[in-house]
Amino acid sequence: MRALSFLTIADNLEALALRAAHPRLAVGALSHLPPSLLGAIQRARFRQTLRFVAEHSPFYREQFSRHRIDIERIEHPQQLGDFYTTGEDLRHYGAEAFLTGRPETAFETTGTTSAIPKRAFFSDEEMDRAGRLAAICLRLLGLERADRVASAFDCSFWVSPAILRATLKHIGCFHIEAGKIEPLEFYERIRSYRPTVIFGEPSWLSRLTDVAEERGTWPIKFLFAGGENIVESARRRIERVWRAPLYLNYGQTEAFGALGIECQAQAGYHRNDLDFFFEIADADADGYGELVYTTLTRRVMPLIRYRAGDITRLIEEPCACGWPTRRIAKIRARSDEMVVCGMGNVGPWVFAELLRDTPLATAEWQAAVEHDGQCDVIELRVETELATPDLERLILARLRERFPDFWKNYEMRLYKLRVRPAARGELRRGRKLKLILDRRPTVVGERSTDQTLFYPMAI
Ligand SMILES: [Zn+2]
Repeated sequence: MRALSFLTIADNLEALALRAAHPRLAVGALSHLPPSLLGAIQRARFRQTLRFVAEHSPFYREQFSRHRIDIERIEHPQQLGDFYTTGEDLRHYGAEAFLTGRPETAFETTGTTSAIPKRAFFSDEEMDRAGRLAAICLRLLGLERADRVASAFDCSFWVSPAILRATLKHIGCFHIEAGKIEPLEFYERIRSYRPTVIFGEPSWLSRLTDVAEERGTWPIKFLFAGGENIVESARRRIERVWRAPLYLNYGQTEAFGALGIECQAQAGYHRNDLDFFFEIADADADGYGELVYTTLTRRVMPLIRYRAGDITRLIEEPCACGWPTRRIAKIRARSDEMVVCGMGNVGPWVFAELLRDTPLATAEWQAAVEHDGQCDVIELRVETELATPDLERLILARLRERFPDFWKNYEMRLYKLRVRPAARGELRRGRKLKLILDRRPTVVGERSTDQTLFYPMAI
């Protein structure tokens, strides 16, 4: 009873802060929570969520009983030991087994490690909350009512355009949604609106930048990307051409898009500790391991210790920008063999499907992802006697026929696909053949926090 009234007070204070007129006031109010109080709010919300899912979600009820977990004794996520929720659970049991309330909308991941999409359900109230928090962050980055926003986010089942809409409602600026169309068409049609802020996926923004470099830019305040990582050299090029910073968002459909967001220092993602409890599983000596999060405020489809599949670390030191929240470091890699790149979210099954019915000498194949300074390059190596042009023609025909989304990105030149035949027995040297190699250089890099900011910010 005491915990509940404490939570009610915390919830009301937070609601007041979220509605504060100026983002600095909102962030200031939230950040002056002493760490011990934030920790107490997180623990109280965690306990509340745990009881809630044990009562309402068929999946968690069954799992807690199978793992003999007495939730009354659990105060902290770490006390759950090796109990985690995985993307595989979502696919295997179905999103409905996780439901604890009436959903009002759903989204799907655009690509995964298997052909079955992961689905996530939400309420309109949860959408509004995500929008409010994102609005505070974007206002801190300089977005104002007088700005004009153009978005090239893909609207098909993807959470980001919906969150962006919910966010801009709280900022009140003019906005236009082009969808993920050919960058040249976007450029020609959007130009007359003179957008001051552009949203899109990094590889798509990179192609738009090619067009802008040739035909000219107009003054913009910043670009904002979500959906995939970007190598730092590609980011710098986009920033140089547009003479404006490019900020990244870090999120997942399952998290409702809002795990963390970059600030002007671009040194990791400021994380959302009000809605999530973050942990790192299987951390190495440097603190890098798989990101795990527990949702703290969701009431339609809460997730307990969800394994994000991304390798990163938590940064506890304060950031140079002065935003008070702690950070998630730039994502280093995926823990599975999935790669998020210009092609889309691709895992081994994608290449296996591309190669199905292809006359190969052996069943061995390997894909390497590199970056050539302009876009991601995927090199698919297979053991076959076919000549390169024949093999390439075959694979491209299958790409068009079996993966329309990846084909669309290929036609938009968001990536290059090369096919290279290898001799029989050339690929497998050891016992285990790594199917996908991500060789892009600076996905690993973190920007130094003491780097001088050279963009004037309009806050
Ligand atoms: Zn910062």
